[in-house]
Amino acid sequence: MRPQPGRRCVVVLGGSFDPIHQGHIALAACFSRLLEPDELRILPAGNPWQKTQGLKASAQDRVEMVRLAFAAANMPVVIDEQEIRRTSVSGEASYTLDTLRLLRDELGPDSSIAFLMGADQLLGLHTWHNWQKLFDYAHICVASRPGFTLNMTDLPLEVTTEFAQRIGTPEQIRNAACGLTCLASDLAVDISATEIRHALQHGDQPNSLIPAVVLDYIQQHHLYKN
Ligand code: ATP
Repeated sequence: MRPQPGRRCVVVLGGSFDPIHQGHIALAACFSRLLEPDELRILPAGNPWQKTQGLKASAQDRVEMVRLAFAAANMPVVIDEQEIRRTSVSGEASYTLDTLRLLRDELGPDSSIAFLMGADQLLGLHTWHNWQKLFDYAHICVASRPGFTLNMTDLPLEVTTEFAQRIGTPEQIRNAACGLTCLASDLAVDISATEIRHALQHGDQPNSLIPAVVLDYIQQHHLYKN
């Protein structure tokens, strides 16, 4: 892969991380392999509008778990708490479009910004506020997730249409600022934070689902007990 001289590539993974698990890490690793970014920006959500039941762990605990999980990863990770800061001031829900706009201001017009999501998010993308505008600020890279289709014919028509016309290779994504899509259909990590919270509530140890350091943190701080 030959990046254009001077063009920076930042891969962005936003999420509740309530708690962070091996599925998140695999998603980040998958696109880090494909895009070889200069930076992997992890953005813990403040108050995501999709999670109507609210988050279980505090923002501080979720950030700490993310930090522990990526500490040993061989990826150029930066943890960005901007969404948490914004919602703690306004108390309002955080929107990806606002975050990407601010990231674009910060990183400049030329940086390649690739926003990651799992197939579950793609299925509901058309319900996001002004979702087509996301492409003005970033590329969207989606990975498969067990239980959710990545088959274009099974997705909402408007999403299929938009995605199909924007498909790019990793090299094209690395070498353009925004506006392209990429699908990675070989990820198959059947883990969700919901499942982990349930296991912990029932006294089970979800050892293989989360990094050991994160499980230690959860136990030391008595998280997800009820
Ligand atoms: P919950 O079960 O609480 O809804 P979650 O496991 O889906 O949480 P989030 O923090 O909401 O985790 O996810 C952040 C991002 O990571 C989303 O884009 C989501 O699609 C993606 N993601 C989460 N788990 C996986 C997985 N197992 N495989 C691929 N992508 C995933």
